[in-house]
This record gives sequence, structure tokens and C-alpha cells, in this order.
Amino acid sequence: MCYNKFGGDIMKKIAVMTSGGDAPGMNAAVRAVVRSALHHGFEVYGVYYGYKGLVEGKIEKLSRGDVSRIINRGGTVLGSARYPEFLKEEVRQIAVDRLKAFGITGLVVIGGDGTYRGAQSLNEMGIKCIGLPGTIDNDISSTDYTIGFHTALQTVVDAIDRLRDTSMSHQRCSVVEVMGRNCGDLALYAGIAGGSEFIITPETGFDKQLTLDAIRDSHLRNKRHAIVVVTEHMLDVDELSKDIEEFTGYETRATVLGHIQRGGDPVAFDRVMATEMGEYAVELLKKDIGGRAIGLSGLNMIDYDIKEALTMKSDVSNKRYGLVGRLK
Ligand code: ADP
Repeated sequence: MCYNKFGGDIMKKIAVMTSGGDAPGMNAAVRAVVRSALHHGFEVYGVYYGYKGLVEGKIEKLSRGDVSRIINRGGTVLGSARYPEFLKEEVRQIAVDRLKAFGITGLVVIGGDGTYRGAQSLNEMGIKCIGLPGTIDNDISSTDYTIGFHTALQTVVDAIDRLRDTSMSHQRCSVVEVMGRNCGDLALYAGIAGGSEFIITPETGFDKQLTLDAIRDSHLRNKRHAIVVVTEHMLDVDELSKDIEEFTGYETRATVLGHIQRGGDPVAFDRVMATEMGEYAVELLKKDIGGRAIGLSGLNMIDYDIKEALTMKSDVSNKRYGLVGRLK
């Protein structure tokens, strides 16, 4: 609780925003922050369009009704933005001044590691910031799973299932490029869930000859089809498809799933986890704690120093790579 200089209560004012790449489940987190804050008697504000909107003063008070019927919606009702100008201290100072003008002392930011860096800086400048991991890439090591990952995973698995139907009918090889930036989790989990034969991620690395030999072996064993899942930015999937076709005799098609992986209604897991995280963030702000990043560890919600969260290494997914080889 905050007190004024006469010893009376001052209503706590906090804000919530989404930033960086949008992810399904961000809305569930926004809703949880707003509803929990109101439950504790705080005033709660929404910042529209990430750090850009913050600097431009796009800040509005939110009520219970403002977050009705959004738990099931993809994207983010608060909007998001990339805003490189926020790396400049003088620009961040404008943001701090904007929040102070409203009397806002705490800010919940939902986004990826870039968003966390912005939050860490704002925290050092006197605004108590809590980071929630919102990205489909699952590339934040301070949590087992990020908000949006399981929804994107389901989208990719649905796509692989469809590609398998047609690959099998035509005895083709299908190369599927999925998102993930520098993290192979989406490819790994989708590859396992989709029963794919080969998974190429930043963690596995890419050895072209080894891959071609393995696909040729499976063709020689009369497998009717093969699915290869690849994390984006690793290689040119059209080129790899051509090489597979020439080297193995499999007719091969490449599919880049692209931004369809970002959209869609969040699956229940993302809604539940986002809700728990949103509530946890408000609990921390209630205790006047800032500079923390919230994560899921096993079945528990935990929080780390946001600086530490940005440098942690996780091996939660690495354990699953062994599965792929054993189930081919
Ligand atoms: P994500 O949060 O999904 O990783 P970005 O990397 O684009 O997405 O980061 C989102 C925003 O966070 C950036 O557009 C920028 O406004 C802010 N940001 C990123 N890195 C920093 C940083 N080092 N310092 C301050 N703000 C940053």
C-alpha cells in the first residue's frame, strides 16, 4: 500500500502494455492484470502500441468491461510496436515522465527479450516493472514456456498433419519452415507432435550431407513420405528441397508457414498460464516489488531478476532431442 505525507492511503496506479511480436494469450494476460489490479483496489491503465505508444502518451484508464470477451482472442487488444528509439535514454525519460504524470508507479510489460530489456531500463529509471514472457518463439530461458508458444505449436502441428496427407498420397518429401528466431523449440515440439522424420534447429545444427544421406536411406527403405521441419533463418528451404529431390529421388516441396503461426485463438494452456502470470505480476507490484521477470517452472510460477532472466540458459527442451532419433 502507498501512503501520502499525511499518512493516508494513496490509490496505487499501475499500467499494462504489450510489446514486440504479438502472441496469442497476450489478451488473457492483460485481462488478468486488469481484473487482479481492480480486485486489489488499484487503478489500472492500458498503454497502447508498446513503448512507442508509451512515449506518445497513448495511455488510458481501463475498467473490468474493457477486458471483457478478450480471453479467447488472438493478437493483442492493446496493440504492439517495434520502436528502436527506445534504446535512447532521453526517449525513455519521456516515457518515465508520461507515467509519472498519471501517478503510475508500476508497469507490467508483456513481450519478448527486447521488451524485457526496455523494462529493465525503465525499472532502473524508477518505474517498477514486471516482465511477462509473451512470444511464440519460447526463447526466454527464465520460463519453461512463453505465452503463445502452445497456440503456435498447435497451428504448426495442424499444418504438418495436412502436409502429411498430401505428401503420403504423392510419395513426397515435405520441408516445412517454422518460426522461432534463434530457438528451435517450435520446430522440435512440432516435429515430435507431427511425427516428422527430420528436425533441423539452431540446437541440432545443419549438416547438409548427413541430412541428405538420412533422407535417402529412408527413401530406400520404401518410406512413402518424409517430413523435414526446419527453424527459420537456418537455410534456404527451396534450395534444400531441390537438393533432396536431386540426391534422394523423393519429389520434394517446401512450405514456409510464415505469419499464420502468430495468429489464432489462444489454446487453453496459454490462457491459463497467461492468467496466472498476470495475477502474479499484480501480487508483486502490490508488494512494491519491481525488476522481476515471471516464469513457469514445472507447475509453479516463479520470478527472477529481469537482468538475470535475460542471460539465463535453459536445457528444458534439450532433453527432448533424444526422442526424435529414437522414434524415426
Ligand atoms: P520482443 O520483445 O518480441 O523481443 P523486440 O526485440 O522488437 O521484440 O523488442 C521490442 C521493443 O523493446 C523494441 O522495439 C524496443 O522498443 C524495446 N527494446 C528492445 N531492446 C531494447 C533495449 N536494449 N533497451 C531498451 N529498449 C529496448
